[in-house]
Amino acid sequence: MKQTNVLVIGSGLAGLIAALTAAEEGNEVILLTKTNDLLSGNTSQAQGGIIYRGETDSPQMLVNDLKLAGDGHCWEPAIQQLATLGPKLIDEILVKKIGVNFDKNGSEFDLTAEGAHSLRRIVHNKDKTGEAIQVAVIKKVKENSNITILTNQVVFDLLTLSHHSKNSIDIYEHPACFGAYVFDNNTKTIYPIFANRTILATGGLGQIFLHTTNPAEATGDGIALAWRAGARCFNLEYIQFHPTALFEGDKRFLISEAVRGEGGVLVDKNGNEFMQRFHPQKSLAPRDIVARSIHKVMLETSSTNVFIDITHKSKEWLQNRFPTIYQHCFNVGIDMASDLIPVVPAAHYSCGGVGVSLRGRTSLRRLYAVGEISCTGVHGANRLASSSLLEALVWGYLAGKDTSKSWKKDDYFPAIYEWVDEKEEIDPALIFQDWTSIKYTMWNYVGLIRTKERLHRAQNMLRNLQLAIEGFYRKAKMSREIIELRNGLQAAIAVTNATVESPYSRGTHYLEK
Ligand SMILES: Cc1cc2nc3c(=O)[nH]c(=O)nc-3n(C[C@H](O)[C@H](O)[C@H](O)COP(=O)(O)OP(=O)(O)OC[C@H]3O[C@@H](n4cnc5c(N)ncnc54)[C@H](O)[C@@H]3O)c2cc1C
Repeated sequence: MKQTNVLVIGSGLAGLIAALTAAEEGNEVILLTKTNDLLSGNTSQAQGGIIYRGETDSPQMLVNDLKLAGDGHCWEPAIQQLATLGPKLIDEILVKKIGVNFDKNGSEFDLTAEGAHSLRRIVHNKDKTGEAIQVAVIKKVKENSNITILTNQVVFDLLTLSHHSKNSIDIYEHPACFGAYVFDNNTKTIYPIFANRTILATGGLGQIFLHTTNPAEATGDGIALAWRAGARCFNLEYIQFHPTALFEGDKRFLISEAVRGEGGVLVDKNGNEFMQRFHPQKSLAPRDIVARSIHKVMLETSSTNVFIDITHKSKEWLQNRFPTIYQHCFNVGIDMASDLIPVVPAAHYSCGGVGVSLRGRTSLRRLYAVGEISCTGVHGANRLASSSLLEALVWGYLAGKDTSKSWKKDDYFPAIYEWVDEKEEIDPALIFQDWTSIKYTMWNYVGLIRTKERLHRAQNMLRNLQLAIEGFYRKAKMSREIIELRNGLQAAIAVTNATVESPYSRGTHYLEK
């Protein structure tokens, strides 16, 4: 058993900033992650950049862009907070305190443009912005003696008064979280961490879909933890799909829109252009239209992918304009100058999540959620490019600050029932097949194009799967694999249920009648 003032679950940008800020407020903090290394999660994959402020920019201009992208479904106080506080925190925390190196033109930041932004306002570090930020923040976190870092630790349940207290009278208390149950993947043992405050920062859920740009650890654990604990989750139907991820190997590397911007054309498996059927802007139509069109063509032609053809450009030109993409493709045997690039749409970002206040407080006392796992109201029904790192920074900081304020009875730690270890080794074939079922079901029925019939089919299949998985989870010897499978399925069910309840198309949610 361990005890701390603040427990932070997840070491992406949101968790790191929350841990650092809470520690600077004088708290003892435990920061843990389920991976071997703190450099994990979606943060490390972020390429493009983070919103700052453009030359003739104003908070209101950013608010307007966020609203437009969010399709009228953003929460005004949240976008105002992001737009007014965000750029200041980049200056004060990322640049001055942590020393993140954003690219410069002379003495000024090299501001770049992205889709749906009304001017250039994004700062970046080449095309590895997330990693550059995360590495710098990790260094600072490691220097702080108030923070204990634990890696290879998988949280599999939040401790709540209603579920874990031995004192049966606690069921009448306001629902509250007092820590988490953890599986130590080094020693293969289970132990509880008691915490006055718990901050959920577990990132995305892309792995519940067949194709995703998210790394392996993005299995939707946070949604499952919050769901089982009884914290309110919403907007889960809004999953942003990126239209073009490389269809080669088992990872989906992003092929940036800029490749189509420079004349790359989408073609089907027979080499025929198809986007003229769907939109006058053809391959450069808006992201969601391109993604859905590709999906339709894949179904019509029974193919696993389509292609981008940019072979009219020379090798030298491509190597100079797209050095990272060119090299990545080359490493897997594709020369962009002479070969078609196989691509598929891929689940990219979860706009919904655990509902939170402006300070990151959830509906469960003593529990916060920050970063991609949370739903702050900033993204509404669709995310504006490069706004998620900024949201992780702002809410991570505010939740960290808020840990020094008191919550009612935040020092109450009831006795809990002892964990009973089970012994049965689960056949890896079951885990593999169940993940395959989840991923295909979500991709085909709850993916880019939803219909009522597809959604109800998905609901039934996932419910049946849950009966089977809960059955073997109860007697299984604990492992990271079984925890992730159970959580991934719960997240898939939560997304599907939210989608079934969402009766009309908006933002990323497209319902075909
Ligand atoms: C390819 C790609 C490109 C992107 N580009 C951009 C961009 O240019 N700009 C932008 O703003 N956004 C971008 N995004 C989105 C952005 O990167 C993420 O939304 C953001 O980094 C999420 O940060 P986070 O701290 O919430 O979570 P993450 O960075 O995902 O971190 C989650 C952490 O939780 C841990 N964890 C998960 N479950 C458990 C558990 N059960 N127990 C213990 N630990 C757990 C993980 O190991 C990890 O450490 C991109 C995303 C991807 C995938």
